[in-house]
Order: sequence, then structure tokens, then C-alpha cells
Amino acid sequence: NISENHPVIRQLDEAAINRIAAGEVVERPASAVKELVENALDAGARRITVDCADGGKRLIRVTDDGCGIAADDLPLALSRHATSKIDGTDLLNIHTFGFRGEALPSLGAVGRLTVTSRVAGQDAAEILVEGGTVNAVRPAALNSGTVVTLRELFYATPARLKFLRTDRAESQAIADVVKRLSMAEPFVQFILRDVSGDAPREIFRAEGETGDLFDALHGRLSGVIGREFAENALRIDAEREGLHLTGYAALPTYSRGAAVAQYLFVNGRPVRDKLLVGALRAAYFDFLSRDRHPVAALFLDCDPKLVDVNVHPAKSEVRFRDPGMARGLIVSALRHALAEAGHRASTTVAG
Ligand code: ADP
Ligand code: MG
Repeated sequence: NISENHPVIRQLDEAAINRIAAGEVVERPASAVKELVENALDAGARRITVDCADGGKRLIRVTDDGCGIAADDLPLALSRHATSKIDGTDLLNIHTFGFRGEALPSLGAVGRLTVTSRVAGQDAAEILVEGGTVNAVRPAALNSGTVVTLRELFYATPARLKFLRTDRAESQAIADVVKRLSMAEPFVQFILRDVSGDAPREIFRAEGETGDLFDALHGRLSGVIGREFAENALRIDAEREGLHLTGYAALPTYSRGAAVAQYLFVNGRPVRDKLLVGALRAAYFDFLSRDRHPVAALFLDCDPKLVDVNVHPAKSEVRFRDPGMARGLIVSALRHALAEAGHRASTTVAG
């Protein structure tokens, strides 16, 4: 009898919905770090410190000196689809890392999350979320900015916990996320520490750079990718029909055996995009042997309307309105710079 056996359709509660969404937003500790550091950057922070214990599984703590969250807004910041960054009317015009209002509620659904924050001129406050249950806002002590602490990530979803790699591998993924974001924001200080042991151990530090954007970027890339890269890097600065390409690309002599040091950004966002990686490869085609890979940090900037960053919750993929133009600009700008450098080198030798 079908009418007795038909499945019951239920409305899921908020905690269950957040846990499901968390599966997309927070794949591993490094994704939590990415979301929290992006929030700090969106808040205008100039100094960001990331502390992790046991590869981020036991503890992730991100401290920033940004604008803070008002005590009254803390519950809202932790509820789903609540954001201060867009009003929903213009999804084609996004200038911040965040806009979905999903990160904090997702993290609160899969770990023990504490947000402590202070807006200038107000009292500091804090809120604790555990397994999706939001507790009452309490007074707290904090000078300025925001501290987000995530303890025991995935304790509520043991299946996910089982799929994580070793602490060492997760730490490495976290360092990679922090380094990539630090390249996108050379004026901001970044510190990454491992606090697993008794004394904190610094894993990465980048002081806020000064000077114009190219100076700052060059300094930051020298610190992150290495001095040798910076010394062998060609400055890239090209524009075509509202699409700007800036950054540094290494001489072919400074290449690698694997495509591990290719950092691509679209409108300030680190991306892993096949189209852009393909363009980079094509640009070096005549300058490198098949088994070598170029090293570069390239920033493509355009009107947000020309690129859709809304493709994936983790937002590492983008979709260009005119993919051919993005590819064409990268290929021609890099080829031009490489050819010019080659020409300079040959005339120097001849002279
Ligand atoms: P989104 O970043 O997409 O807006 P989140 O869930 O990451 O969503 O954050 C929700 C809101 O909480 C943000 O829109 C912002 O107003 C506030 N917020 C989160 N982190 C910070 C921070 N570090 N400093 C200031 N405000 C923050
Ligand atoms: Mg966010």
C-alpha cells in the first residue's frame, strides 16, 4: 500500500542545513583558515596572525586588527546567509572575498567556534557556537579587532575527520593558503604559527610591505617564493579592453620541474583555473623545454561584471565572460616580456 509507505518530506533544521553546507565550504582545516583570513582582510585588517595546533584539527585561531563586529551583530554574523558585504541586489558587482554569509555558521556547525570582537568605541563581546548551537553573547576582554577560535574541527562529523591527512600535510595546506593570500595583500602583515607544543613556533612571517604596489609585491614575492625568484622575475604590466594583468614572471632559466609555483589571482582572489594555467604554459611554450614549468605570480584585474566568482562555494574557480581575451592577454604580455628579456640578454652578451 503506497499511501502508507510513502516517504515523509521534512524541513531540515538550521543545524543540519549548516552541517551539509559546511561539507562544501570546509573541506579541511586549510579551508577554514582561508575563510577566516579572508574575513579578516574584508574587515580591513593590517595585521593577521594565524595560530594552528595539530594541523588545524585541534585549534585554528585567527587574530586581526580589522573593524570588528558589534556585540549586537554577533548572533547575526553566525546565522546562515547573513552578510555585511552585499545586499543581494547586485551579484555581478562583488569587491570582497566573502559574500555568501556561509563561513561562520558552517564552521560553527562542524567545530567549537568562538568569535571575540570589538568595534572601536564599544565594549568587546564574544559568542560561542558548538555543533550548531549558538550561545548567548557575553562580555569579553579584547583591545581591538577580532579573534576567531575554532577548536576540534569536525568533532561533530567524524566521517570527515577520518578523511583528513596527517597533521604535517594539513599544516602544509594551511601554510599554502596563508602564503597565497599574503601575495594578494602585500601591505598586510601575516604571521603563521604552530602552537601544538608548549612554545609557539613561527612557520611563516611577512611584514607589511611599503612603497608602490609593484615594490610591495616584489618584496612580498621575494619573501614568499624566494629571493632568487625576485631576482629573476620580469615585471608584467599590461592592459587590454579593461582587463589588467600585473605581477612578476620568472625568466625561463628560473623554472621548476613541476607546476608548483604558479600563483594566479583574479580581482585579488587566489584561483586555480585551468584556463589561466594553460595560458601561462602557452606563453612559455617557445622558451621552455616540455619538462620545465614557469614560475609566476600574476594578477588579473577587471570590472567584477566581466568575471563570475560565484561558481563554487570555496570560490577558487572563476568564469570569465570572455575567456579568450583573458588567455590572449596573458599569452601576449608574457611572450612580449620574455622576448624583450631575451633580446636584452643577447645584446648584453654581444656588447
Ligand atoms: P561573508 O564573509 O560571506 O559575509 P561569513 O560567515 O564569513 O560570511 O561572515 C559573516 C559576517 O560576519 C561578515 O559579513 C562580517 O560582517 C562579519 N565578520 C566575519 N569575520 C569578521 C572579522 N574578522 N572582522 C569583522 N567582521 C567579521
Ligand atoms: Mg567570509
